[in-house]
Amino acid sequence: MATNPIDQPSANRNQKREGYISWDEWHMGIALLSAQRSKDPALQVGACIVDKDNRIMGVGYNGMPLRCPDDEMNWGKEGGPLETKRPYVCHAEMNAIAFRNCASLKGCTIYVTFFPCNECTKNIIQSGIEEVIYLSHTKRGRVEYEASKRMLEKSKVKVVKYEVKEDGNEKVILNYKVDE
Ligand SMILES: [Zn+2]
Repeated sequence: MATNPIDQPSANRNQKREGYISWDEWHMGIALLSAQRSKDPALQVGACIVDKDNRIMGVGYNGMPLRCPDDEMNWGKEGGPLETKRPYVCHAEMNAIAFRNCASLKGCTIYVTFFPCNECTKNIIQSGIEEVIYLSHTKRGRVEYEASKRMLEKSKVKVVKYEVKEDGNEKVILNYKVDE
């Protein structure tokens, strides 16, 4: 039995299908799916950068730098300054910007599953991205996020909280199950 809207045939094959996801849902869905690639045991973050024509210019998730083997790195928060993940992990936004598939991100929008830290915010601003759409922000008040807010405001980067619609398709896409 087809339980997912993407399985459901249109009532009328001569008309466009109903129930398709919006651009916003698609982009944030890709950010959420990308987060699932992260090996970070505490927080998985994804990012998706799109241009003004809704074309995807880059995706990323938080992980260790290239050629730093995941199994040889520390993923915890406890220990000496060199023993935690903090000095090493590349955040989702940094990776999405570093691995972009275009020359410039000027005028682009970045969808992020978590509000960007101050380091990522600097990268976002310098890259020319003009809009940040974030899904969650549970670390409000911490200095790095307050610094982000301040820089984004001053740089006139538009910041939008992504609103999950009650009857939206996000959960459908991310909970999609293939019938056995
Ligand atoms: Zn960051």
